[in-house]
Amino acid sequence: MAKKQTFADKVKKERGGSICPVCGGATQPVKLVRPEQDATSGAWKFRTRMVVVCKCNQKSVYD
Ligand SMILES: [Zn+2]
Repeated sequence: MAKKQTFADKVKKERGGSICPVCGGATQPVKLVRPEQDATSGAWKFRTRMVVVCKCNQKSVYD
C-alpha cells in the first residue's frame, strides 16, 4: 500500500523548501546580496544573506 504523501512532504522533496506557517504556501530559500555601507569607514561592501520567500512575504523581501 502506497504511503500517503502530504503537501509538505511533496514540497520538501521537490523544491527543498517547506511550508509557510502564515499562508500555508510553499517557501523557497533565496540568497539575497545587498550593498551595505560601513558606518565607520564609509566603504561599500556586499552582504549576503539567506531568506525564506513565499507568496505572503516576497514583497517585503524584495523591496
Ligand atoms: Zn506565506
